[in-house]
Amino acid sequence: MNTRRRIRARGVVQGVGFRPFVHGLAAELGLAGHVGNDSAGVFVEIEGPPAALDAFVAALSARPPPLARIEAIETEDMPALGETGFRILESVALPGARTLVSPDIAVCDDCLREMSDPADRRHRYPFINCTHCGPRFTIIRDVPYDRPATTMADFPLCADCAREYADPANRRYHAQPIACPVCGPQVWLADPSGARLADGDAVRAAQALLRAGQIVAVKGIGGFHLACDASNPVAVRALRARKGRADKPFAVMAATLEAARAFAQIDDDEARLMTGPECPIVVVGRSRDAGPSSPCAEVAPGNTTLGVMLPYTPLHHLLLEGLPPLVMTSGNRSDTPMVTGNAEALREMAGIADAFLFHNRDIHIWCDDSVTRVFEGRELPLRRARGYAPFPVRLPRPAPPLLAVGGELKATLCVAEGGHAFMSQHIGDMERLETLDAFARAAEHLTRLFRITPETLVCDRHPGYLSARWAREQAAARGLGLIDVQHHHAHIAAVMAENGAPAGEPE
Ligand SMILES: [Zn+2]
Ligand SMILES: [Zn+2]
Repeated sequence: MNTRRRIRARGVVQGVGFRPFVHGLAAELGLAGHVGNDSAGVFVEIEGPPAALDAFVAALSARPPPLARIEAIETEDMPALGETGFRILESVALPGARTLVSPDIAVCDDCLREMSDPADRRHRYPFINCTHCGPRFTIIRDVPYDRPATTMADFPLCADCAREYADPANRRYHAQPIACPVCGPQVWLADPSGARLADGDAVRAAQALLRAGQIVAVKGIGGFHLACDASNPVAVRALRARKGRADKPFAVMAATLEAARAFAQIDDDEARLMTGPECPIVVVGRSRDAGPSSPCAEVAPGNTTLGVMLPYTPLHHLLLEGLPPLVMTSGNRSDTPMVTGNAEALREMAGIADAFLFHNRDIHIWCDDSVTRVFEGRELPLRRARGYAPFPVRLPRPAPPLLAVGGELKATLCVAEGGHAFMSQHIGDMERLETLDAFARAAEHLTRLFRITPETLVCDRHPGYLSARWAREQAAARGLGLIDVQHHHAHIAAVMAENGAPAGEPE
C-alpha cells in the first residue's frame, strides 16, 4: 500500500541542482509527488511504497548534488493522495523563512570541455555554466533563488536554452544562470572613453593588448580586475605607478596548474585548494629557478611568497589561454571593494586601464577574490570572499537576531540569528566613505537574503573605529540595542565559534 511523506531539506539546496536531483531520484524509484523551492529551502512530497520512500530519504543525504550542503532533512508522514507523476512547482516566498545561498563556484570540467569543443553551441562562450558551477551569490538579488530574482532576469532564454532548462535529464535543468551566445550576456572591448573597440573576438583583442604590455580592466564574476602581463616589468611598473601602489604584492593568475608550478612551489594541499570549486588565491612559495615568462620581481618586490590563482570563470580561461601569467589585482582605487559596474569602472579606472573588457551580466553585489594559505596541511583563510561567502558559520548556541560590525582594517560584518552566523564578503579598510557605503550595502544585502531583522548591533569597544561609530549611530537612529565588545575578546570568541568550541552560559 502506498503512503505519502512530506520532506524538508535545509542548507545550501537552491541553485545547486537539488530539484532536478530530487526529480531524477523520484523517477528512479517510481515515486509520485512534487518538489519546490521556498524561502526556507526545498520542500518535497513523495508518494509510493514505504520501502521506496525510505530509500528516497536515505539517498537525499547520501548522494546529493556536488554543490549542495545539507544541514537538516525533516520528514513527516501523511495519508496517500493517489497522485501520479512528479512535478517541479513554482517557487514560493514564505514570511520569516530562511535558506542558504551558494557562493560563486568555479567553472566545472564539463563546461570547460564544451567550451573548447568547436562543435558545441557554446564553443568559446565566456558565460557557459551549469547547475554545478557558475555565479550565484553575486547575481542573486533576493530569495527564493530563481532567474527573475537574479541579474539574469534581463536575458530571456532562446529555444535551445529553454529546452535544456526544462529537461530533467540535462545538466542545465533549472540552472538559473543558463545562457548561450544566442540569448545570453556578451563581452566587448572598449577604450577608456567607453567606445567599443574591434568587432571581432573581444577576448582575442584583449589578449593582444596584454601581450603588448598594456593594462586591461577585466570584468569578472564579482567585480573588475586590473590585468597586465606579470612577466613584463615595464607593464607591472606602469600598473604600480598608475594605481599609486608602491610595493604591496600583486596576485597573479596562471593559465593552468602546470604553468603555475613553473614559478611557484605548490604542494598537493595547495594544488587541491587552487583547483577546487572555491578557487581562491593561494599564497605559495616562489621558485628560485623560475622558468621564462614567469612573474617578474616587480610583482611582489622583496617577497619569497606569491599569491597565485587559476582561472575560475570561463572568461578567465579564454583570456589566459596561451598567455604568460597575468597580474590580476582588484579593480579599485585603493582599499575599497572591487568596482562592479561598467560606467563606474570607466570612471574609477580612468588613467589606469588602457582598455576595458566589459560584459553585460550585471554584478548585483561585489565579491573579491579570497586569499588563503595552507598551514600544517590546513587551510588558513586570510581574506574570505568569493567561493566562501555567504556560507555561514554554525553557532554552538542560538543567537538572537543581530548585526555585528568588525574592526577597522580588512573589515567584514556578520548577521546572525538562530544557529547561523553569516559573514559578509571582505569589505576593505574602513577609512573611506566608499567603504562605508559598501559596508551599508553588504548589511542590507545579507539581512535581505537571510531574512534577518537585527534587534541588536554589536561593535568594537574602540571609540575611534568608523565601523563602531556607524553601529552606534544606527542603533540610536533605529532604536536598537548595542553591545560593545573588547577587541581581543571578539577574536577569541570568533575562533571558538569557527572551531565549534562549546560556549559558556550567558552572563
Ligand atoms: Zn558547469
Ligand atoms: Zn540560449
